[in-house]
Amino acid sequence: MNVNLLKLARKNIQTLIPYQSARLIGGKGNIFLNANESPDSESFSLTNKVFNRYPECQPKEILSVYSKYISLPLNNILVTRGSDESIELLIKTFCEPYKDSIMFFPPTYDMYHINAKILGINAVIIPKLSNFQLNLKLIKSNSNSVKLIYICNPNNPTGNIIRHKDIIFILKLFEFKALVVIDEAYIDFCLENSMLKYLDKYPNLVILRTLSKAFALAGLRCGFTLANKNIISLLRKVIAPYPLSSPVIDIVNQAFSSKNILITKRRILQLNDNRLFLVKELNKLDFIENIFDSYANYILVKFINANKILRFLENKGIVLRNQSAKLNLNNCIRISIGTLLECKNLVKMFNLYKIFLYKNKDINCE
Ligand SMILES: *Cc1c(COP(=O)(O)O)cnc(C)c1O
Repeated sequence: MNVNLLKLARKNIQTLIPYQSARLIGGKGNIFLNANESPDSESFSLTNKVFNRYPECQPKEILSVYSKYISLPLNNILVTRGSDESIELLIKTFCEPYKDSIMFFPPTYDMYHINAKILGINAVIIPKLSNFQLNLKLIKSNSNSVKLIYICNPNNPTGNIIRHKDIIFILKLFEFKALVVIDEAYIDFCLENSMLKYLDKYPNLVILRTLSKAFALAGLRCGFTLANKNIISLLRKVIAPYPLSSPVIDIVNQAFSSKNILITKRRILQLNDNRLFLVKELNKLDFIENIFDSYANYILVKFINANKILRFLENKGIVLRNQSAKLNLNNCIRISIGTLLECKNLVKMFNLYKIFLYKNKDINCE
């Protein structure tokens, strides 16, 4: 490509490192535990077969099934093309370029920062404490010019829950000053920790939900933003005119049939069980330094040598997600919870790795 054309792009785009998604990184194998997807899915077929008309911007059927599902009025809900769209939409709606800031707390989900970079918004970055909780003192002393605070809960990739009273403290601290966005992508695995019940009480609370994880619909691209009705109407001014395609609308409707809701609930229980199984088995291995407590469909594990085990597993067809590049997560790997069979296979491979290490030790001593 002509190098001069690259120079046409905005400066922040020229230097941008794009999001390293599981699909972008790739990886060969037959067991994929690298993207926090559901390992299985219902099969769907389309009800509508013709597509000559534009869909509604905010499809009434979807709003109403979700409203019923979470018992929240329609005007508190926005439906989006995955929750990733909402992360961006909030910045576009609330942040003045080259003036306002967003705040977030690494190690966490990368898309908050990447969207801010793309849109020319400053980032106030407050690292989490060593127990992965929020540093309230630093948050308090850096609150100027912040318009949006992104809190991932349970946090990706650490899996922990952010203390409830800390979130309330931040909601109060930023009352009338900034929106506090709780990214609840994984909350279906531990629903008792949701902030949903506080929507009435705190008008600056925004909650992000997605169908990509517990609902097993990552390929569909559908998410929800839950907030005060005034926030929702502002977002409706900014959102694309047709964010969801007609087939998506069709299938989301089916996903909320009482039969499919039951299947989703069963899937959540199963994945939580599988997580407990995997943790119990990994606890027996001596090349693991730490298994962090998780409330989601993945666990973060600190190894003695993460690269070595990733290479070993990839040769056996198992793909996990390295988190070593993230703040304070050196030698940490995130393992998505698969089917029970996949978890058992993984454990088997870890035991083979143990033998492999033992043999290599002999070689190294010679
Ligand atoms: C997966 C994920 C999302 C993205 O969800 P989509 O609805 O698929 O866009 C958002 N936030 C976090 C923390 C995630 O892990």
